[in-house]
Amino acid sequence: MLSGIAQRFERVFIRDSTASLLWWGKTLPGGAVRRLQTDAFRRVVRYAAKRQKFFAEKLNERGLDASRIERPEDLEDIFTTPEDLISRPPEDFLCRRPDLVFETTGTSGPPKRLYFSYDELDRSARYEAAGLLENGVKVGDRVVCTFDPGYWISSWVTFLACKRLGVFCSATGKPQPREIYERMRVYRYNVVMADPTWLVSLSEIAEKDGCSPLKLIFAAGDRMTDAYRNYVQQVWNAPVVLGYGSTEAGGGMGMECRRGQGYHVDQFNFLFEVVDVDAQGFGELVFTTLARRTEPLIRYRARDITRFIEGPCPCGLPLARLDAIKGRRDEMVVMGAGNMHPAIFERVLHDVPGVAETWQVAVRQEGLRDVIEFRLELVDGISADRVKEHVTRNLEGRFPDVWANHQCGMFQLAFQFVPHGSLTRARKPKRLVDERKS
Ligand SMILES: [Zn+2]
Repeated sequence: MLSGIAQRFERVFIRDSTASLLWWGKTLPGGAVRRLQTDAFRRVVRYAAKRQKFFAEKLNERGLDASRIERPEDLEDIFTTPEDLISRPPEDFLCRRPDLVFETTGTSGPPKRLYFSYDELDRSARYEAAGLLENGVKVGDRVVCTFDPGYWISSWVTFLACKRLGVFCSATGKPQPREIYERMRVYRYNVVMADPTWLVSLSEIAEKDGCSPLKLIFAAGDRMTDAYRNYVQQVWNAPVVLGYGSTEAGGGMGMECRRGQGYHVDQFNFLFEVVDVDAQGFGELVFTTLARRTEPLIRYRARDITRFIEGPCPCGLPLARLDAIKGRRDEMVVMGAGNMHPAIFERVLHDVPGVAETWQVAVRQEGLRDVIEFRLELVDGISADRVKEHVTRNLEGRFPDVWANHQCGMFQLAFQFVPHGSLTRARKPKRLVDERKS
């Protein structure tokens, strides 16, 4: 049975216009938001305990009774991890028949597969629509969205958010930036939504060949450094607003306001925790999906490092804020090429003749470009050019998605050849390092 406030929330969230949802979210007292979250958390825990094999097993192992769980801490060390999603069959997480599936990038082996209902996708679109409206997007605007569709979620959610707002939208997939540039005047796009490094490539064309007027640029996907953001804003003379989300989250979890001081998070559909915090309050983001019933995730470890920002935002929105993502708890590096894991480079390098077993790949920033630098020890007598050619061919053939991003100018390749034995001189190097400054 839903409490009074939860019933009102469902009504506003599902049926009312985006404008009234936004108004409602803005005027709801903090105490009411917390009550909604606590109610929803209790409900999803009880639901998953009955229907989700994985979660039921975890409760059972620890001898916990779902009906006594009131808040995340009561679950002790029960979490859902990315490794759980990969290693166990989907049936262990599915609680009812799904309508659709999305994947995370499967570059490190099998992808994570996440199942949803159409309603759940719509819900995610409603949050994004509210965020876009708050940032000034409204009827009469013309959006071009170049997030990759395929098995990835963001393009679909954005398209549905625009539909919800009644805003003209082209969801084009991710073509070469030049193709979109040529059409910007034809279709009078004034809002661009894209991956940060793709935006840099588009902006370089615009800087040279001229800009059409934009009112807003929305970026999400890979990492936007301050240098990239400043450059894009300066070329177009338009604000860049960042979004934060993932396939596991079923779309967006947070969006910046125009003040750009952290992500205002969707507290209505997620309960967020930051765990294993350091002295500055940074730790790993953990979220529970409060509304999803197809494949709810209880205390999902996002592996992203962030912290809550204390105090109210100058914009006045009462939603809690998360700081910019500072890094990853695992070895993944989020960049222009995609979400890169060391395993990708293992698959690229393992059969290249002349490359010694110890290697390192560094992600650097050079001017306005992400650079993947292969640091390789060569076995005597092998030609460096031949190694470069072989590595490039392997990357192109084995990871076409990564290569497509290279073709869009979202990253460059570099090689550094070092004498045999020099990488191991100190101790075994990390295989993949992120050397970009935040
Ligand atoms: Zn704000």
